[in-house]
Amino acid sequence: MYNRRLLRRFKRAIIPSVLISRETGECALHEERMGSVTKFIFCTGGVVSSVGKGVAAASIARILKSRGISVSIQKLDPYLNVDAGTMSPYQHGEVFVTEDGSETDLDLGHYERFIDENLTSSSNVTTGQVYSAVIASERRGDYLGSTVQIIPHITDEIKRRVHQVAHESGAEVVIVEVGGTVGDIEGLPFIEALRQIRSDIGRENVLYGHVTLLPRLAVTGELKTKPTQHSVKELRGMGIQPDFILLRSDTYLSDGIRAKVSLFCDVDESAVVPLVSASTMYEVPLIMENAGLGDLIVERFGLSAAKPNLEQWRKIVERIKNPARQVQIALVGKYVELVDAYMSVREALYHAGAHHDVGVDIRWVESDLLEGGESDPLAGVDGIVVPGGFGYRGVEGKIQAAQHAREHGIPYLGLCLGLQMMVIEFARSVAGLEGANSTEFDPQTPHPLIDFLPEQRQVFDKGGTMRLGSYPCHLVPGTRAREAYGQEEVRERHRHRFEFNNQYRQNLTSKGLAVSGVLEEGDLVEIVELEDHPWMLATQFHPEFKSRPNRPHPLFCAFLSAAIGRSGK
Ligand code: GLN
Repeated sequence: MYNRRLLRRFKRAIIPSVLISRETGECALHEERMGSVTKFIFCTGGVVSSVGKGVAAASIARILKSRGISVSIQKLDPYLNVDAGTMSPYQHGEVFVTEDGSETDLDLGHYERFIDENLTSSSNVTTGQVYSAVIASERRGDYLGSTVQIIPHITDEIKRRVHQVAHESGAEVVIVEVGGTVGDIEGLPFIEALRQIRSDIGRENVLYGHVTLLPRLAVTGELKTKPTQHSVKELRGMGIQPDFILLRSDTYLSDGIRAKVSLFCDVDESAVVPLVSASTMYEVPLIMENAGLGDLIVERFGLSAAKPNLEQWRKIVERIKNPARQVQIALVGKYVELVDAYMSVREALYHAGAHHDVGVDIRWVESDLLEGGESDPLAGVDGIVVPGGFGYRGVEGKIQAAQHAREHGIPYLGLCLGLQMMVIEFARSVAGLEGANSTEFDPQTPHPLIDFLPEQRQVFDKGGTMRLGSYPCHLVPGTRAREAYGQEEVRERHRHRFEFNNQYRQNLTSKGLAVSGVLEEGDLVEIVELEDHPWMLATQFHPEFKSRPNRPHPLFCAFLSAAIGRSGK
């Protein structure tokens, strides 16, 4: 089997104590790992937040995958929320939902889109999860009288979760991004855990990458390196010397700047990688590869890897950057000033655009503006998307948008709340059900077209309690949905508490609203479409989460195709 002495040493020194099974004393990881240890790339950020660390981490994963290396990826979020589900899009952008129904940071969306693989709840760890687990262990008495401390108990729990991704995915390289900026109080235990992993598993198995911003002084046009130097100094103060630095900037930087950062931060010049703002985020892996980052990582890890194959990726980028023509799509939302709030919807539109070789020009329309019946903001658009949402503000404007699309034959795609808006509008205007509404917005409505899912009535906690994650959806033959997907059954991701009230189904379907997708168990309405309309379809799920640049979502493709058809008229 394996060498016991070596295993004991491995257990003691390599694997955090928490990885060792309490019943058997055996470690789940050791046998697999004895031969080949997973390599880790830890990405931190400095200078400012929102510098594009998520896209950088995802791009690293992409360039490695393009060399035939298996990868997985994880985000460590230092905030105290247990998951992103309870956070407002104002604070944190979109909540991304995985197949297994975890509500995660939007960076997981970048990861899935860049590596084209489904991730699980293990790929997003928050301080809230770590502390909850440690405190639960303490209450059970697992620590046998020890004083429970940040080091080693919190850091061990963090390390356990980092190793878990390696274990579950079996990937050769795991990229781990730490949210926030180096120096944040909340981030310290994470940075410390990542520092320890290097000595746990050996220097040759860990690389640290640091992403910073080079601000540009408007007066002189100069790019400044001082903030980068300071953040590297801060990182070093925590015991981490970066192996490579990714320099984000808005303008091209000279070799002189690269040399300067190399000198002051003690990083090889070849490991100082300039990342000039790209017109599409999908270009970042190409920029990294050109700058030699793929070679550097493979070399440092001593991996045997194939030559990078980014041909398909390059073609997609080319199509996104230089489309044959444009279509204009209105995205009617509540948070239009915050593009991040609808990240996956935007990206799914771009993917479908690349598929059809059209550029998607998104007109962000604030739903409040449509509230008074005003349809000017929608004038001239080729298609309308009403995405997901919560709370009453802006709802009437979204209903107006659905009405405008229906009455003017404009292609419409409703996503979750967008389905509910389409159904309510149809009930009010076509079926004559005055005051029809969702009980989310009007608990006293005479016509609760949209009502609680049965299991949601007794739910009081807000966190992680919606209908979440992947469910099967059966597609009805002869419908647009069935035609778009080209198959009988699909699985799609959900995040909602309310649903179509089947009591109204007969009434609405007799007036031209077709139910084209259902969850057979419970007979839940998952997709509706209008029979008498060029293309008006809405889903109770969120197809946007499954769209990938190389595998655009069929419903987004079908919607855009209708929009293109309209724009050509
Ligand atoms: N607020 C609605 C519900 O809970 C829609 C949710 C959504 O759009 N994700 O059902």
